[in-house]
Formats: sequence, C-alpha cells, structure tokens
Amino acid sequence: MNSELKYEAVIGLEVHAQLLTESKIFCGCSTRFGETPNSQTCPVCLGMPGVLPVLNKKVVEYAIRTALAVHGTVAPRSRFARKNYFYPDLPKDYQISQYELPLATGGHVETSDDGTVKRVRIRRIHLEEDAGKLLHAGTIDQAEYSLVDFNRCGVPLIEMVTEPDLRTPEEAGEFLKQFRAILQYLGVSQGNMEEGNLRCDANVSIRPEGTSDYGVKTEVKNMNSFRNVQRALEYEIQRQIGLLTSSQPVVQETRLWDPDQGITLPMRGKEEAHDYRYFPEPDLVRIEVSPAWIEEIAANLPELPAERRRRFMQAYGLPEYDAAVLTANKALADYFEESTQLHRDPKLVSNWIMSELLGYLNREGKEITESPVSPTQLAAVLKLIQGEVISGKIAKTVFEEMYQTGRSPEVIIQEKGLVQITDREELSRIVDQVLAENPGPVSDFRAGKEKALTALVGAVMRLTRGKANPKLINDLLREKLSGR
Ligand code: ADP
Ligand code: ZN
Ligand code: MG
Repeated sequence: MNSELKYEAVIGLEVHAQLLTESKIFCGCSTRFGETPNSQTCPVCLGMPGVLPVLNKKVVEYAIRTALAVHGTVAPRSRFARKNYFYPDLPKDYQISQYELPLATGGHVETSDDGTVKRVRIRRIHLEEDAGKLLHAGTIDQAEYSLVDFNRCGVPLIEMVTEPDLRTPEEAGEFLKQFRAILQYLGVSQGNMEEGNLRCDANVSIRPEGTSDYGVKTEVKNMNSFRNVQRALEYEIQRQIGLLTSSQPVVQETRLWDPDQGITLPMRGKEEAHDYRYFPEPDLVRIEVSPAWIEEIAANLPELPAERRRRFMQAYGLPEYDAAVLTANKALADYFEESTQLHRDPKLVSNWIMSELLGYLNREGKEITESPVSPTQLAAVLKLIQGEVISGKIAKTVFEEMYQTGRSPEVIIQEKGLVQITDREELSRIVDQVLAENPGPVSDFRAGKEKALTALVGAVMRLTRGKANPKLINDLLREKLSGR
C-alpha cells in the first residue's frame, strides 16, 4: 500500500549573484576578472589589522534595483553582520554579510510554464562580500599544496532566498532563468553560472502528495549550470523517495553534487557543523535608505522580462511561447527587435530566430551576442524570400552559408547561382522535359491519382536544384496535364 504513495518535492533556492560594480564592496580595489592573482588587493580586502571597511554606494543601489524589480520591500534601515568561519580563502576569518536585518524582504518572481503563470515568493535579498579562490595542485584531497588568489575577496554579492514554493526541478530551472533575466535586464549582474558569477544552492525535501507539512530537507551545493541544478534536484528527489519508501529517515544535511558521477554526496561532518556566531558588524554603520532614493531608483527601472514578454505579444502579435523564449535573454530580445525593425514580419523573424539561428548557436554552445549573422543580414534573407528571389527552402541553405562565412546573402546567392527561377518560359521548357521523361506518373495523374503530381514537382525541383518557384511549377504542370 505504501509503495502506491505518491510524493511531491518542495524546493527553495538560495542564489548568489555577483554585482557588476567596478570596485569592491568595502574598498577601492578593482573587481576585474582574470587579472594576475593577488594584484587586485589592498589591506582592507586582505583583512589586515586596523583597517576599516567603507561601503560602496553603487552596491547598495544595484541591490535595491534588484529588490524593486522583484516587488520586494527595501528596509529603511538594515545592517551588516559578521559570519565567522575559518577557511584559507577568507583572510579575515569572517565574512561581512547580513543576517537579522537584511536590505530587502518579500517580493516574487513570475515563472510561466505552458501558459500557466506562477508566483514564486522571495523571502529576502541581502548584501555580502565574496571570498577568495583556492587553486589546488591536483584534487582538493590529494593536492601537495594549494594556492590562494584574493582578487575575488570583497567582490560584492547579493544573496536572494526564495520561500519553498518550487515543486519540480524544471520549475526551479525556470525560476533561475527568470531571475537571471531580471538581473541582466537591470544590468546589475552578468548572471553566468558557468563563470561562477551566478551561483545556486538548492534546498529540497519531499512529502506525500496532497499534504501540506514540510519534510526534512537537504541542501545541495556545487551546481555550476542550469542543467546541473536540474540534474542534482532530480537525483536528490529520487534519493529521498528511496529512503522514505524503505522506511529510512532523510537526514538534514548539506550535500555536494558530483556532476561526473551524477550523484549527491554528504559533505564531511566537520565542515558542515556550522555555528557562524553571527553578530552585528561593529566596523560599519547601519545602511540607511531614504524613501527619496528608493523612489528615484524605482522611477529609473528599465523594462523587465515579464513586461517585455507582454509587449511582444501585444505589439508584434507573437504567441506566448515565442515571446517567452525571445525575452528570456535581453540580448536575444534586442536582436529580435532590431531584425523586426528592418523586416516588418514579426512572426517570420521569430520563426527564423528560434528554429534556424538558435538551432545553430545552441549546437555550438554560443550566445546570441556571438552570432555570425547580424540582424541586418537576417532581415536581408527574409526580404529575398518575400520578394520571391529565393524560395524558403533555398533561404535555409543561404542562411547556413551566411552563418558559416558571415558573408551577405546577395553575394552567396550570386556566387552559388541560387536565384529562384521565376521565368515562365524557362520553367515551361523544364516542365516539358520532366513530362516526357516520366510517363508513369503522367498517366497515373491523368487516371485521377492526384498524388502523382508530387513526383513530378519533385522531378522539376531536382532538375533545377530546388530553385524553381513551387507555385509556378504547380500551375505549369496542371496546365500542361489538363491541356491535352
Ligand atoms: P536553514 O535554517 O536551514 O538555512 P531556512 O529556513 O533559512 O533554512 O531556508 C533556507 C532555504 O531552504 C530557503 O530557500 C527555504 O525556502 C528552503 N526551505 C526551508 N524549508 C524547506 C523544506 N522543508 N524543504 C525544502 N526547502 C526548504
Ligand atoms: Zn581591496
Ligand atoms: Mg538559512
């Protein structure tokens, strides 16, 4: 009977995003990535004795912008706290973070799945500093020595914590993508998981479907892509169901995702037994945010993904699916709008971006910003189809060539002789040849088999290497076949 029991997952996410300020959160050091190790450091971010941190105003502004974009409430007064722990990438032995009084609370992000819009509630958004980076000579447990780079120490982060409102790994992935899109639209973070400027820890528990109490949760860390967040959650949910169905308890713990083995493993006990001894940061005053500043930031928020999605549906008549795909990525939405300005057929533009362009880009793992085909070039191809210079089918060949070589469609068409044959007389001669060479299908068609026409059209297309105007072939064939 118990094995019939269905479980549902309960998921809450903790997301860290690196803010795109030029300098660090408490000192003037540069946040530039990829510089010589330890070249972007000073006594403040190295945690020397006697130094004092000074808060970077831009960091607070970016965090407020994010909080307002997700409909959160910014606290008029909040404060920093010390989170104490030892790790070699943390020279002060504490991280300046926020605890009891975070910068912002509440809010929500809308995710849409097959047209149903769902609100995922946000619990809080707070500010903190990043730690440095360890480079192990080999794997962490076998390295003879490890090197430490403090350039990342003091780089500003926001931590956003959701309520446990997510129910499936797909939903969690969808939420993350939405949140990333918001960060990118706001220009406050790059939101790139692979590069580590967007990081996510996932809390997950399971419970019998239809019940409302929460089960014991585990926290899964170390997922460095959207795909891995989903995979880790799928694995962890199945693991917990396995425990409960064999009458074993789920233990509350932190687990690490191992992408190679595709499993989660418990973190070693010592590292996990955390008591951070939080206390208010004595070196910094409270953060005071005036209503006027909040109003000013609110008034200057850009258009956000959900608004842009709605506008794409209304202004361009796009289906919800197209609008959602195109607006999930700011650069992609910009690409679409630029192309549509140049060729005013939004649905056609959308189809070509979604099926052709994204197809090629995804295969190579490339971003839209790396597209070898510009909006101008895409619009040029679409104009050639519309003007019946090339057929839709040939256009795909032209597009592929454009994608590979970056050359203009006109040049490709000239060089490869791909211009559509729309000359009636020229086609007429070819059709005659096809009729003479295919007596079988000809008599089939005359005997009433409509389908035989397809074979004849195909033969014309083969002879013209796809360049014949399909409508014209059809007309000519029918004329000639009924003419006698
Ligand atoms: P902790 O005290 O262990 O840090 P919190 O209550 O602070 O737990 O919640 C941390 C994250 O875990 C939040 O995103 C929250 O939504 C999520 N969470 C809390 N309880 C559960 C649960 N039973 N199952 C899944 N996620 C949960
Ligand atoms: Zn510094
Ligand atoms: Mg917590």
